Amino acid sequence: MNLLVDSCVCNSEKILTNINIRINSPVLKQGGKHFDCKNSIAYPPFINSHDHLISNWYPKAGFGHTYTNVNAWVEDMKKTESFLERNKIWINDGSFDLTDPTAYQIVLLGIYKNLFSGCTIVQDHIPRQKPKYYQNTPIEVLKEYTQLHSLSLGNWWGGENAQTEYKKSGGKLPFIIHLGEGTDKTAAECFPKLKKLDLLKPNTLLIHGIALTRDQIKECAQAGASICWCPNSNFYLIGKTLDIDACLEYKVNVVLGTDSTMSGSVNLLEEFQFAHEKFPDIPLKQIFNMITINAVKALKLAPDCGTIEKETSNLLLIRKNKKDPFENLLSTKMEDIELLIHKGSPIYGNTNFLKQFDVDHNNYFFFRNDKFVLGHPEKIVASFNKQLGYKKPFPYLPFNIN
Ligand SMILES: [Zn+2]
Repeated sequence: MNLLVDSCVCNSEKILTNINIRINSPVLKQGGKHFDCKNSIAYPPFINSHDHLISNWYPKAGFGHTYTNVNAWVEDMKKTESFLERNKIWINDGSFDLTDPTAYQIVLLGIYKNLFSGCTIVQDHIPRQKPKYYQNTPIEVLKEYTQLHSLSLGNWWGGENAQTEYKKSGGKLPFIIHLGEGTDKTAAECFPKLKKLDLLKPNTLLIHGIALTRDQIKECAQAGASICWCPNSNFYLIGKTLDIDACLEYKVNVVLGTDSTMSGSVNLLEEFQFAHEKFPDIPLKQIFNMITINAVKALKLAPDCGTIEKETSNLLLIRKNKKDPFENLLSTKMEDIELLIHKGSPIYGNTNFLKQFDVDHNNYFFFRNDKFVLGHPEKIVASFNKQLGYKKPFPYLPFNIN
């Protein structure tokens, strides 16, 4: 299959215009149909570096005020309408075994949140789950990592202590930890603690880092560590975010994450747009790197992720609303995604493209006359609606069901 596109963003520095893209896929039909996509732009699929898939309930869980430390929100959150509504479907028994069939339905919705925003890889910050959690998902949920919730709360949700978790990473897998999510003394103490434990390493991925000072950010850069920026969640919970200007000045490897919808953006497209709105001076290319090549480095992904070439088995094709491919992302909505391909497999997009693939249509859900998606998210929503007794909207799903 060939697609003639207006432009192809191979990476933020290499953009090919008026170019033919050839899709490599073992499930393509013979014949090699040619599509004229001159009103479309090709990108590498995006990577969301921080989410909690089980927590993508809606709306945000809060009481209209911010906190000096996230630890207070973790308790308060349990009294919010959003949390209590999710409890009607699934109650967290503290085991954090999310392969439980009901829990897994909620997790799957979180996976679809990412899929419909053009992500094919997501990092789910949760204790490592049983292998089946990571298998047969419509997009990739990162499975090779070690983690700690935070140095202030420890691994209350499962997993070992910080040093043991780091040791298990072998210095190679990403070691992921929330750090400095607040403005108080407890938040400020996290970084010195991390250093004392000798855990500021090239494979360390710090989430949030709101409390980090400029000097500490410089130390992160020198150590080769990565920091995940979740501005929407940070402003909502804490009223402040990471010193992103210092991060860019010292060339920290910054990645972007949504966090869950109980505190953060609806999806990664909205997070990209929010980051630009709040920090218009940051070149869009740099924010684009945070959801592509920087994430490949932080999450230790295969080198063919985060970039594409004109012959590719990964693709994110988006309708061209703006000529500049990065500005185009500022107005991109879920519906503007025309085709999403991961490892040769069509995941989401316009049905005219799906016709070129030799796949079983029973494995797809078709909606809005012209869209398809791999799997059956509509069945999950129908099941939740039945259990709740009313229609529950999820703003990250681009379809409605009766
Ligand atoms: Zn988080």
